[in-house]
Amino acid sequence: MMMKVGFIGLGRMGAAMASNLLAAGHEVTVWNRSPGKVAALLDRGAIRAASPADAAQGEVVMTMLSDDQAVEEVVFGTAGIAGTPALHVSHSTIGVALAERLADGAGPGGFVSAPVFGRPAAAEAAQLFVVAAGEASALDRCTPLFDAIGQRTYRVGDAPPAANLVKLSGNFMIMAAVEAMAEAMTLAEKGGVPRRTLLDVLTGTLFGAPIYKTYGDFLVEDRFRPAGFTAPLGLKDMGLVDAAASASRVPMPLLGIVRDHLRTAIAIEGEDVDWVAAGLAVRRGAGLG
Ligand code: NAP
Repeated sequence: MMMKVGFIGLGRMGAAMASNLLAAGHEVTVWNRSPGKVAALLDRGAIRAASPADAAQGEVVMTMLSDDQAVEEVVFGTAGIAGTPALHVSHSTIGVALAERLADGAGPGGFVSAPVFGRPAAAEAAQLFVVAAGEASALDRCTPLFDAIGQRTYRVGDAPPAANLVKLSGNFMIMAAVEAMAEAMTLAEKGGVPRRTLLDVLTGTLFGAPIYKTYGDFLVEDRFRPAGFTAPLGLKDMGLVDAAASASRVPMPLLGIVRDHLRTAIAIEGEDVDWVAAGLAVRRGAGLG
């Protein structure tokens, strides 16, 4: 069934997601802060919105923005979507506290938190994993939309912030895996075992998960550009994990290490580098690279 959907935030992820909603036959009205990014979507049949509020006049409005500040501006700022009739579906990786505020301050349409796992290539292929939380009836309404952007949706509860906790935990675990692989690869390499050999053995035996394979390849090939997910956005996420851990009084010593290594990667390589470059900090620390 065709739905009237607004889509706000046409960055690396959002442009592909909006495009897949169009491909699935939905009527999609788009808004982006930098107006130039709208053109490619208009060519595919999207409608241009004059403001975020203008994009939120249909049944659902989806947001896919960088960080908490961007979401606050689009929701509560001038001509924001707060108070509009649409159900707000937030796909951005944002903090637990903001998700609570968005749920509490939701307009008549309600609020669903639905962060995603998968990089831009997965977004383009409509192969994202959607982690969704909110009222069951609201989640039901979103089902055709989630099916258009992803391969599978996990419902993790009625309270929207639950989805953000799952997403942030996942991103922390990705960085922990990158740290572990970078340390093991550096140890192997300095002892005369090529990184590729180590990765092939370990992903073929005990560590066959997608994260080890995908990020392991990036590390072996020192492939840090073009970024699918930038290190500054990764650093933002580790800050959100820390805020949640602090609020719940959970010590996370490993978090401090991976956050520092992201800072090192940005300081050495610049703002445009992929977050997997956190592994560089380990190599450099051992005198390699
Ligand atoms: P991106 O390419 O940097 O795009 C960011 C989007 O946010 C752009 O549309 C940008 O508008 C908009 N924006 C930033 N600040 C804004 C503000 N103050 N007001 C209005 N719009 C603003 O980022 P991305 O890689 O698509 O990531 C988007 C979100 O998805 C992030 O929360 C990220 O953590 C999450 N995520 C990313 C990946 C990934 O692999 N890339 C995977 C899963 C989740 P402009 O065009 O004007 O700059």
